[in-house]
Amino acid sequence: MPIFEFQCNSCGHRFEELIVGGADDSDVRCPKCRQPNVEKLLSVFAGSGSTKTSAVSGSGCAPGPSRFS
Ligand SMILES: [Zn+2]
Repeated sequence: MPIFEFQCNSCGHRFEELIVGGADDSDVRCPKCRQPNVEKLLSVFAGSGSTKTSAVSGSGCAPGPSRFS
């Protein structure tokens, strides 16, 4: 689902908004001060909880003992 992060230019509040279908992000308002004066930030899709980072410190296909203990 396309969740975008916005920041309010009026009060500085940061929030996430789910943009569905043909919804325009210019419709987005700050949930705090209700101002439409918000700025879209770069999407932080994999921001919370990095679940699958493919073998960061692991060495390829070697049966490393580091994975054992
Ligand atoms: Zn605001």
